[in-house]
Amino acid sequence: MRKKIVAGNWKMHKNAEQTEDLLNDLIAKVPTDCDAQVIVAPTFVNLASAVDHLEFTNIDVAAQNVHQAESGAFTGEISADMLKSVGVNTVILGHSERRAIFNETDALIASKVDTALAHEMTVIFCFGEELKDRQSNNHFNVVENQLKDGLFHIKAASWENVVLAYEPVWAIGTGETASPEQAQEMHEFIRETVRKSFGSDVAEDVSILYGGSVKPENAKEIFSKPDVDGGLIGGAALKADDFVAIINAI
Ligand code: PEP
Repeated sequence: MRKKIVAGNWKMHKNAEQTEDLLNDLIAKVPTDCDAQVIVAPTFVNLASAVDHLEFTNIDVAAQNVHQAESGAFTGEISADMLKSVGVNTVILGHSERRAIFNETDALIASKVDTALAHEMTVIFCFGEELKDRQSNNHFNVVENQLKDGLFHIKAASWENVVLAYEPVWAIGTGETASPEQAQEMHEFIRETVRKSFGSDVAEDVSILYGGSVKPENAKEIFSKPDVDGGLIGGAALKADDFVAIINAI
């Protein structure tokens, strides 16, 4: 049975005090008997304190990025070993902002995937088409290529440490959401693409999250679709009430 997951990507928001406030609010409000796995991804500097703060809760912590090298002269970067050493076992890779603003290519993301998996981390692998791809009816090709080029080199056994996050770029931070039908259509395609290369067990077990302007108002309908196993949430993850409403919608 695949897991339901709701993950909040806090991006470059919340200083130390604000991080603590939001975590306290979440600890108070996230149901302790929640069926879904709940994950938050604060900024690097607040990861260690978030792990400590959430130690006896049902909320997990993810990093928003990792460097592909083990260590070395890479000023400003953070390694997988460093993340693991403060208790972070999950990392978001391939986010569209990393691809577009920081020029991360499929090949670079693939090497980050290898490093994270070698450290037995769980990878939340993000991918999704831009508006021009959808307008030119090329969205299935783009999504398939991102998957194959960034992820399909891994071994079948590694899939148990992979979560997919389909995030159409045109829906991220824009207020524009893919309709539940558009999300389901793409998630079904993604699951079939995984099935063709890795078989039914892997395809049925992998959680596929939807990301792109998920809000309390639209979460329930999106999550009701059979191939949507949860969400990767940006803006709405920054307010405890909104994030918890989304968790409760699953
Ligand atoms: C994201 O950045 O992963 C995201 C889904 O953002 P938002 O929910 O704000 O569209």
